[in-house]
Amino acid sequence: MFEYQAPENLLKDRVILVTGAGDGIGRIAAKTYAAHGATVILLGRTLEKLEHVYDEIEAAGHPQPALVPLNLESAQEHDFIELTNTLEQEFGKLDGILHNAGLLGVRTPIESYDPVIWQQVMQVNVNAPFMLTQTLMPLLERSENASVVFTSSGVGRKSKAYWGAYAVSKFATEGLMQTLADEISNVSNIRSNCINPGATRTQMRADAYPAENPGTLKTPEDIMPLYLYLMGPDSIDINGQSLDAQ
Ligand code: NDP
Repeated sequence: MFEYQAPENLLKDRVILVTGAGDGIGRIAAKTYAAHGATVILLGRTLEKLEHVYDEIEAAGHPQPALVPLNLESAQEHDFIELTNTLEQEFGKLDGILHNAGLLGVRTPIESYDPVIWQQVMQVNVNAPFMLTQTLMPLLERSENASVVFTSSGVGRKSKAYWGAYAVSKFATEGLMQTLADEISNVSNIRSNCINPGATRTQMRADAYPAENPGTLKTPEDIMPLYLYLMGPDSIDINGQSLDAQ
């Protein structure tokens, strides 16, 4: 496990956008960031799930979050511009993005992979994070030190049969992270890194490994030390890295 003990006020006064914040790892990351003082922007495609996370954060007495219902599969450039304008008016800056939303797609040989599903997976896992990052960069530049965290996977470094668009999208995620990191290195207050969560007890993992006993897996709560480290100022000199949460 990645070892890091975060101070309670690690993210005080920081504004952090979490995609896929309604469920799984994103839900716990959003709650964890809020518990460490951040104002969290909860982005996801299912409003009820986002509202539930919003209520949990409010009930815990953490900074009031913001809700952004947005389907990253169908979102267009104007949606990202609108979001940027809203965040600028509300907060004037952005200190971090956790690109966490992801689609698994199907586990099928390339030979029979459905091109429509391929496009959906690439849209949610790669194209949307690219557009979101690009549009939000001026707001990230206004932070004292901003962190862009992408979510990779073991199959984004060494692929395996039948992982199709998911594996390819995670290789692309690593490439996007590295390209951005090299561009901003030494000339920007922004840093860009990847997290590989490792096998974690969520719906996506259960969909990928239906025969597995979820009780044997780490929970999203267990892997939060790396999520905190990369979002807070202790990782200010880390750029262009792909780190394992487990
Ligand atoms: P889950 O499927 O549990 O959660 C994914 C979240 O992303 C959900 O909240 C989902 O929304 C949201 N999402 C999916 N599609 C869209 C979309 N089109 N627009 C907006 N939001 C969307 O997955 P995990 O928590 O397991 O995964 C989180 C990240 O970690 C992913 O990037 C995944 O690839 C990566 N990962 C996970 C591993 C694991 O073992 N769990 C291992 C390696 C990597 P909704 O709730 O509405 O469906």
